[in-house]
Amino acid sequence: MFEKVLIANRGEVALRIHRACREMGIKTVAVHSEADANAMHVRLADEAVCIGPARSTESYLNKSAIISAAIITGADAIHPGYGFLSENADFAEMVEEHGITFIGPKPEQIRMMGDKLKAREAAIASGLPVIPGSPALPDVDAAKKWAKEIGYPIIIKAKAGGGGKGMKVAFSEDEIETAYTMARAEAKASFTSDEVYMEKYLQKPRHIEIQVLADTFGNVVHLGERDCSIQRKNQKVIEETPSPALNQQQREEIGEIARKAMEQIGYSSAGTLEFLFEDGKFYFLEMNTRLQVEHPITEALTGIDIVREQLRIAAGAKLGYEQKDISFQGHAIECRINAEDPETFAPNPGKITEWHAPGGLGVRVDAEIYSGYKIPPFYDSMIAKLIVSAKTRNGALMRLHRALEEFVIDGVKTTIPLHQKIISQPDYIDGIYNIHWLEHLLDKQK
Ligand code: ADP
Repeated sequence: MFEKVLIANRGEVALRIHRACREMGIKTVAVHSEADANAMHVRLADEAVCIGPARSTESYLNKSAIISAAIITGADAIHPGYGFLSENADFAEMVEEHGITFIGPKPEQIRMMGDKLKAREAAIASGLPVIPGSPALPDVDAAKKWAKEIGYPIIIKAKAGGGGKGMKVAFSEDEIETAYTMARAEAKASFTSDEVYMEKYLQKPRHIEIQVLADTFGNVVHLGERDCSIQRKNQKVIEETPSPALNQQQREEIGEIARKAMEQIGYSSAGTLEFLFEDGKFYFLEMNTRLQVEHPITEALTGIDIVREQLRIAAGAKLGYEQKDISFQGHAIECRINAEDPETFAPNPGKITEWHAPGGLGVRVDAEIYSGYKIPPFYDSMIAKLIVSAKTRNGALMRLHRALEEFVIDGVKTTIPLHQKIISQPDYIDGIYNIHWLEHLLDKQK
């Protein structure tokens, strides 16, 4: 096992990784920007290295500064967390070239899955169902031709896309030129490539994803699904498992399809296959080759520590269990709590004057916050994850109401009232929602 792991991230995920390392007797190195000198993970880590100014391009995305920090401190592995450099194949390669282990899949796998068109090809080849779509579209004429073939509505997507950027929908031929031009411009501004392609646009799907774990010996298991359909601007807000939309047969089928595809691709580490689910059918969207924000709900049902498994796999250990050994108990829900105005969604960083996290049976809070902590304005506005679990969905919902009510975060506005509103809606209580449901709810209340 590793002796010392450098955590190339910030916020709750840095603390999450630190905790797994601590429990395994592994020393940790925190890296931080000048703006994060007082962060909790920096205070708890065995060693900390400042890697640059507040701007993430000069700190958390600064590959050579991070690798230098690992060399200076003698870290034998780097965990990238999520976001930042976690899906950067060049970084993974650089890390390995310096004789340090990258905790994640092989660079080729990251590269393949980071290119949505290549990922689609790999998905088709490994037996995953995909949405009808096009190859790369060189110009508007090609887009028009493909849209006719696929049938409107369609969505233009950036090949190198992520974070919901570079996606534009067209409902008819009148809209295609604007959609194409805008998607391309957005892709150019945000990603390394401005290439775009097209998929059929599903109008009322649910977002269902499968968590997988694979070791370097070809053993693969899936850890069930997560329903992440409560979204705003293509960003997840609340996730739950099991999905209220799936029956046991659908659940087992998609889990097995995902598991076999990973075997076929020769994937290793933790990963998530994302699908859209509409009218009883699954369509592969993309694969995330990293830890995901919503992983704790899966941990709640399976009792498996996913970060620990990532560390074990990267150190060359075998999974040591098979699919039949995994059991799923109860129901879990996660709320992503942001420092934002719950109505306008304007970020609201600042000083936390008082912080009291809920506790009790089946309640987990993953956050880096403490009373007196100053949230820097430079990064993502997610400040806490509240995860509840119980034997039944109803039990989890009751517990979530209770835990949200108990949560005290003073000094900044948060999205706690939004979560309370969502989980009080009859549709949410009945589990009837799709990826557009939250935006419709917010529109109605404008
Ligand atoms: P990103 O990598 O930017 O997160 P994804 O491909 O994962 O992009 O899509 C993000 C979200 O966009 C999905 O969860 C879904 O809400 C929406 N979306 C993407 N593709 C389609 C599609 N073909 N039809 C309907 N919605 C889609």
